[in-house]
Amino acid sequence: MPEKTEIQSLSQRDQKHLWHPLTQHKIAGEMLAIVRAKEAVLYDENGKEYIDGISSWYTAMYGHCNEEITSRVSRQMQELDQVVFSGFTHEPAVKLSEELIKILPPNQEKLFFSDNGSTATEVGIKMALQYHHNLGNDRKVLLAFEEGFHGDTFGAMSVSGLSVYNGAFKDHFLEVLRLPVPTGPNNAEVLQKLRDLIVSNKIAGFIYEPLVQGAAAMKMHDPEGLEEILKICKENEIVTIADEVMTGFGKTGMNFASQYLKTQPDIICLSKALTAGLLPMAVTSCTQKIYEAFYSNEISKGLFHGHTYTANPLACTAALAGIELLRSEKIQQDLKRVIRSHEEFSEKIRKHPKVRDLRQLGVILAFELDVEMERYGDLRNRLFSHFMEAGVFLRPLGNTIYILAPYVITDEQLKKVYNSIESALEKF
Ligand SMILES: *Cc1c(COP(=O)(O)O)cnc(C)c1O
Repeated sequence: MPEKTEIQSLSQRDQKHLWHPLTQHKIAGEMLAIVRAKEAVLYDENGKEYIDGISSWYTAMYGHCNEEITSRVSRQMQELDQVVFSGFTHEPAVKLSEELIKILPPNQEKLFFSDNGSTATEVGIKMALQYHHNLGNDRKVLLAFEEGFHGDTFGAMSVSGLSVYNGAFKDHFLEVLRLPVPTGPNNAEVLQKLRDLIVSNKIAGFIYEPLVQGAAAMKMHDPEGLEEILKICKENEIVTIADEVMTGFGKTGMNFASQYLKTQPDIICLSKALTAGLLPMAVTSCTQKIYEAFYSNEISKGLFHGHTYTANPLACTAALAGIELLRSEKIQQDLKRVIRSHEEFSEKIRKHPKVRDLRQLGVILAFELDVEMERYGDLRNRLFSHFMEAGVFLRPLGNTIYILAPYVITDEQLKKVYNSIESALEKF
């Protein structure tokens, strides 16, 4: 065989052994190789820069390779790297529990660690089902919003809306009932449907993304409607599970989206920005009342769920640094600055004939590009290419364009993102 002398790029070498998430490889083409990231910018292997307009899936909110985070994790790495969390504990986990409880809604008391957003919701679902099981209640059905997304493990897939993500597995799902999101005008209908479902089913828990459904293309719903739903759930002893995996840690303008509501959830799922984009980890928090249903002399009433890397000290340290940053004056100012900037940009494009359903909550800005889809069969991909050529990483969902950039994005970088959107409005 002739010797290969040609030097291959990372993108080419990638194709030999790697299988990427959410990818149909036959039509996807090459993956873009990123070699470096700093603050709000990603650098590819050819030296091209991209503003990370979606914070690498809503994780790196305080900027990539933030030294306040990396230096602390690096110090921790030399003290204690990993230890079993069953029968053992350590400072980073204890400290994180103290700091996280300070910023969570006041009814949250206990924290359970896992590895990612899917396991955070999986644990939340198991807590709700076993809560009723332990109390001797016959409740096995779950309730979820249509079009919700809660992750890729089986419980999480079951409560997610049906899509290409989970369609192949639908015969293996838990029993789940669906409720439309409250939009305001439909609230009365939704509440009636909820009451009807409660009468004819034994519902254990209700899982929802509070106020913003990320994977459903940043669909936003009515806080008053959600408030009413939560009240009815509480009255009927349905365990409420807020999936704040996307919305958590400041993105909606509050530390958690649940804080826009009066009725607080029994369980909250956290991941993504929890560790500030550095390491994978998740937390499922719950109230004392939920915890007490598991607290017993009977071993089998405990929550027998546990991952090898539970409460990894490095991930806990990253989370601690992240929370400190979130509470800092600097980041709070940045948050306000980005929110104001988005508001100004919204005013500018709101009346554009191709802008439909423009919506903003905190630093999340989204709208539908109103063009004839038939004219652009692969509109989403063409939009994506348009942004990437302009040096802006935005990831349109169908014809929804949204921005969810790191809080530390500069005004100049924001302008570049807005310009790329305005040029898309002209081009398509
Ligand atoms: C991303 C996401 C998940 C799944 O998290 P993973 O870390 O990707 O498993 C669950 N729920 C919501 C709302 C999410 O945005």
